[in-house]
Amino acid sequence: MTQNPLRLLDLFRYYKELPHQMAAIKELEETILKKSPGVLNRDQGWFKTWSQAGKQDEPRTPKSLFTPDKPWDFKITPHISYGELSFCEEERRFVKQQQCDTALRLCQYLEQVRMHFGNKPIVITSGYRPPAVNRRIGGSTQSEHLYNMDGIGAIDFYIAGVDIYKVQEYVDKTWDYSLGYGAPKGFVHVGMRLGKPRIRWNY
Ligand SMILES: [Zn+2]
Repeated sequence: MTQNPLRLLDLFRYYKELPHQMAAIKELEETILKKSPGVLNRDQGWFKTWSQAGKQDEPRTPKSLFTPDKPWDFKITPHISYGELSFCEEERRFVKQQQCDTALRLCQYLEQVRMHFGNKPIVITSGYRPPAVNRRIGGSTQSEHLYNMDGIGAIDFYIAGVDIYKVQEYVDKTWDYSLGYGAPKGFVHVGMRLGKPRIRWNY
């Protein structure tokens, strides 16, 4: 039976220094050393490439930079600030790192949508709704906007000057997780829920 091998880049995207992950890396290292003793030496080509890290003019922004305590003008991604996601309201400030990580993932996707539609500004109409806010506006108790577990989150948005139905259609084709068809109400809901199922609904 042939299998597609795991890609290291895909795997390490989820690396968070968790004990089982570190144990797995140790095992992988031992396996590599057993099969090809020289491959982890510093004179190898891959290590020379690796040691260029930090020498580029524009290093990639590490994930962990977005934390709950950041100021409102902090850019989660190049065109979306923390304040846009929380309307600069203190009660909408994230309280857990996992919420920031999920928001980052969503904002990265919104940047893709933005680029697709000619880099016109994204307008966020709802981001994080802590329980008190969600109750006040009558949101569902299961709302993805609660960001209440690792990997759960949502953003409602539109793009100024772009047909919202076209945006919705594009999201439908390119987003594999949650999509609320809010176009008739002027927005698109992009989200993720537990287990990351592909799910669509109308309002
Ligand atoms: Zn929504």
